[in-house]
Amino acid sequence: MSFINHWLRADIQAINAYHVPASTDMIKLDAMESPFPLPDELIAQYLACLADADLNRYPNPSADDLQQTLRDLMDIPADFGMLLGNGSDELIQLLALACETDDTVLSVEPSFVMYSMIAKFTRLNYQGVDLNDDFEIDLPATLSAIKAHNPKLIFIAYPNNPTGNAFDRKLIEKIINSTDAMVVLDEAYYAYADDSFLGDIAKYPNLVLLRTVSKIGFAGLRLGLLIGAQETVTELDKLRLPYNINTLTQVSANFLLQEKEQIDKNAKAILVERANLSNDLSAINGLVVYPSQANFILFKAPKANVLFKALKDQGVLIKNLSAAPRLNDCLRVTVGSAKENAQFIKIVKNHYG
Ligand SMILES: *Cc1c(COP(=O)(O)O)cnc(C)c1O
Repeated sequence: MSFINHWLRADIQAINAYHVPASTDMIKLDAMESPFPLPDELIAQYLACLADADLNRYPNPSADDLQQTLRDLMDIPADFGMLLGNGSDELIQLLALACETDDTVLSVEPSFVMYSMIAKFTRLNYQGVDLNDDFEIDLPATLSAIKAHNPKLIFIAYPNNPTGNAFDRKLIEKIINSTDAMVVLDEAYYAYADDSFLGDIAKYPNLVLLRTVSKIGFAGLRLGLLIGAQETVTELDKLRLPYNINTLTQVSANFLLQEKEQIDKNAKAILVERANLSNDLSAINGLVVYPSQANFILFKAPKANVLFKALKDQGVLIKNLSAAPRLNDCLRVTVGSAKENAQFIKIVKNHYG
């Protein structure tokens, strides 16, 4: 037995590592990144900001300027509390750390895999509740699971990843009202959705929201935020590691996230492309295309594994979900630029043509 096998917690040895596939020189439509680079006219100014950063000093511990920038960008009222994370993944972990051993994390399935993975790392119990066949919340099953397992945390992605739909708001309201658990609505895709619970924070003391800048053009910054009652945030902030938002992220985000018009314009362009991509996929015989409120589309394709491989061999990387429970023959494609989407569609058409 090797040293590490002897030393490491058995449950961690049993975890399948979060796998990020190689993507050098590929059209990358697998991770919900934005296709839009920094506009040329901003580069000189951006570099000047970076040159000004005091990298010999620790970062601003509370990232005050950045908090204000995010409030302006996302219209977050001044009286709501805000906690920043090194990606919203870090905030999911921070919420799990706030639980006691033996507490249960509940989520719906299929959904974002980090909820169950982080529950495992932090030795919490995890309870998944299946969505119905339309990928909508099964309210009776969810309420009875809440009753049976008395979860401490409930994660609901709104809109959901990987299915793309936003659940019925009334069902979510019923869940929030039914429980003492903290309900975490993960709005990673808020920029592409028709609805948000931002306006409901004051109404429900047990509700917090997660957002991120990853899906609006800045995945490389690693910056997520939790929004909730000020009192909730003040307590949770004790679990945040000091200086978790590094200086380069603070300086970059403070500059780049001021460009609200550009960010909105890019999001609108993705919505147009999403509609085109959805239409083009729907026109291909044999495909089932699911509705999306996010910057990706889930679709079901005959022999999905073969299509996935054909795309990959021709330089287009998407996400193969066909081995996941409930997602037999399902693939997920990120909405890219018009050019990237056209290349993707061309390959899919040829494959079935
Ligand atoms: C992408 C994604 C995240 C991760 O966001 P980061 O800020 O990049 O860590 C969180 N939740 C959902 C539902 C996502 O799809």
